[in-house]
Amino acid sequence: MRVHPSPPEADVVTLHESVPPDAFDVERVRRDFPILARPVRGKKLVYLDSAATTQKPRQVVEAMARYFDQENANVHRGVHFLSERATEAYEGARERVRKFLNARHASEIVFVRGTTEALNLVAFTFGRLRVGVGDEVLLTAMEHHSNIVPWQMLCADRGAKLVVAPIDDRGVLLLDELEKRIGPRTKLLGVTHVSNALGTVNPLKQIVALAHARGVPVVVDGAQGAPHVPADVRDLDCDFYAFSGHKIYGPTGIGVLYGKAEHLEAMPPWQGGGDMILSVSFEKTTYNRVPYKFEAGTPNMAGAIGLGAALDWLEALPREAAWAHEDELLAYGTEALSRIRGLRLVGTAPGKAAVLSFVFEDIHPHDIGTVLDREGVAIRTGHHCAQPLMQRLGIAATARASLGIYNTRGEIDALVAGLEKVRRMFA
Ligand code: PLP
Repeated sequence: MRVHPSPPEADVVTLHESVPPDAFDVERVRRDFPILARPVRGKKLVYLDSAATTQKPRQVVEAMARYFDQENANVHRGVHFLSERATEAYEGARERVRKFLNARHASEIVFVRGTTEALNLVAFTFGRLRVGVGDEVLLTAMEHHSNIVPWQMLCADRGAKLVVAPIDDRGVLLLDELEKRIGPRTKLLGVTHVSNALGTVNPLKQIVALAHARGVPVVVDGAQGAPHVPADVRDLDCDFYAFSGHKIYGPTGIGVLYGKAEHLEAMPPWQGGGDMILSVSFEKTTYNRVPYKFEAGTPNMAGAIGLGAALDWLEALPREAAWAHEDELLAYGTEALSRIRGLRLVGTAPGKAAVLSFVFEDIHPHDIGTVLDREGVAIRTGHHCAQPLMQRLGIAATARASLGIYNTRGEIDALVAGLEKVRRMFA
């Protein structure tokens, strides 16, 4: 089982200090990603946009192709051979995710389209059960739009209010301020595990304990957490945990909502249709058991199987060493970028993960991204779906290099060389 840092303080320490980085063979890992060997604009591709979506190892692509070539049929309702095989594969993927998150039961794993859909599901079911007129939903200032807008919609519908816990200038969540905002009207806390714009790793265990001490359930946006830090839902004791397949080396169109069994049982369904029912008449419908109650219609079987393959692939690596590799690369990148005159890193929380966000002189981030692209270096620029966070930091946008398990020091060097070109062109 993976270890989770036990954080007595707000600052999270580096997870993997004790592991020698050379235990991880990055070149071997890269061979599983044919796309990393392709040229882009006549240059070697340097892919530094994994927070947007990761590349997929060939094992994932092959698992999905195998499913379509050999096992494709609709699940759950068929008595024929292929339907049985497809159902086994789909439910096998659910069990694979259960193991990855260390959830107690496979029925606590709901397949959805991605983190966005998972968070909407919770807002529109659990949220509607809990939140009424005058109540409050507590979030943090570093949330992605998908962990803001569904709650805003819920609050508008219910006559409730969004309350926001602040961060400091480094991007560290102020836990005492968070605690002060948990009051008798707080019905729910939504928090990201890892910030996509800053890389801050929130001390979830401590946050969950604070909230639970006041009877407040916690919904975790794990889109950037699951790929980069241990996500053990029993250890965290969170009520819900959401993540996307495509950010963890799996396919698009598949994601996961983990929910504690007692919550999922109590929640109403949110979409109606096939598979989520036990019986239907024009007078009355009885719903299926969890998790099927939340999976109306034909699910994304190939996506789930691809996600299962991605988790198999990931967990077959020496995980501690892989995390150490990402940490080491982040430290290397932080150091390298800090040496560039006129460049300011945005998000400097201790123990952060996988993200190097920055502003550079007064050069527009889109210009930075465009020049880097000509060098084959793919980064993301903009507000990163975190406009309230950008407002808090007093900037419109950043340039963001984000790391995956396959990145190398050489690629950080290419980023730095590209940034020197940017300076020559604009500064
Ligand atoms: N939350 C965070 C922190 C993210 O980084 C993202 C995607 O960038 C999301 C939520 C939304 O994920 P998806 O678009 O896969 O639903």
